[in-house]
Amino acid sequence: MMRTAAVIGHPVSHSLSPDLFSFLAGLQAQKEFTYEAIDVPSAKLKEFIQQQRQMPERVGFNVTIPHKERLFDLLDNVSKEARTVGAVNVIEIKNSRWSGHNTDILGLQDSLLQSDADLDAQNVLILGAGGAARAAAFAVAVEGAKRVVICNRNQARAEVIVQDFKNIFSGTEFISADYSFDFAAENAKLVIQATPLGMSGIKTDDSDLRIFESLLNGVKSQQAFAFDLIYRPEETVFLKMAKRKGFKTITGLSMLIGQALATWEIWFSPITSRPEVFSS
Ligand code: NAP
Repeated sequence: MMRTAAVIGHPVSHSLSPDLFSFLAGLQAQKEFTYEAIDVPSAKLKEFIQQQRQMPERVGFNVTIPHKERLFDLLDNVSKEARTVGAVNVIEIKNSRWSGHNTDILGLQDSLLQSDADLDAQNVLILGAGGAARAAAFAVAVEGAKRVVICNRNQARAEVIVQDFKNIFSGTEFISADYSFDFAAENAKLVIQATPLGMSGIKTDDSDLRIFESLLNGVKSQQAFAFDLIYRPEETVFLKMAKRKGFKTITGLSMLIGQALATWEIWFSPITSRPEVFSS
């Protein structure tokens, strides 16, 4: 039977998911599978979901901006992780039941695993407090981070993450910060860049470079990691700066691939060995 999936968002034409999933279908010898990008404006989301419930060949959807936070009431079930992070980026359809998941967390964990970044009892710095930063804070806490400092230009938004997560992860201390925070004292193992600063089409100015510099100064010099969640370009301004300072770097592309592999497993079956082409 033909199975179909799609990424929904607005805009969605920039998405790499159709290429990624068609490629993965080829590797997994899944011949009867098609994947498309569907532009769904916010005002049409509810109607779209109702209409799609009549399509038995659908296995699920990937969800991107601006719908990740807006699907909760339209689904039959939402995983604990997606609810905690506050975002659904994958819908799984089984026996007419629509379930929401968050594979951004799994993509982040996969990237850390592939990079050998052991975070057990380590400190982590995160720049940004949006959906991706929430997934990052969740993932590093699951990986055993001891202390996570979340820095955002609007500190109040970072503080919301602290309040949401502090009772869930009792072994991890969460701190909110603004740009005036003294990162140098942190002695962290990993810094995660989770804002769009440096993304293709978004310019960085001197103040952005100063906050990158300030965060990188809070990371241990030996065996330290810098992770930028942006995947276009693959090597961002932040990663170039980190490389010059001798850091090991992790790109957003590895997270994108990790979340795609995790999505495939939710829709179909476990991928027993990681496709070589996806190994870093
Ligand atoms: P979001 O929810 O819109 O959050 C954006 C965050 O960046 C907020 O904390 C925002 O601060 C901050 N920000 C935006 N513009 C800024 C600026 N000019 N200066 C300083 N801070 C700024 O977005 P998101 O979904 O978290 O995505 C963040 C990044 O992660 C994007 O680049 C996205 O492409 C990337 N991402 C990658 C993957 C992957 O698979 N690799 C997956 C998801 C996301 P305020 O709160 O002050 O507005």
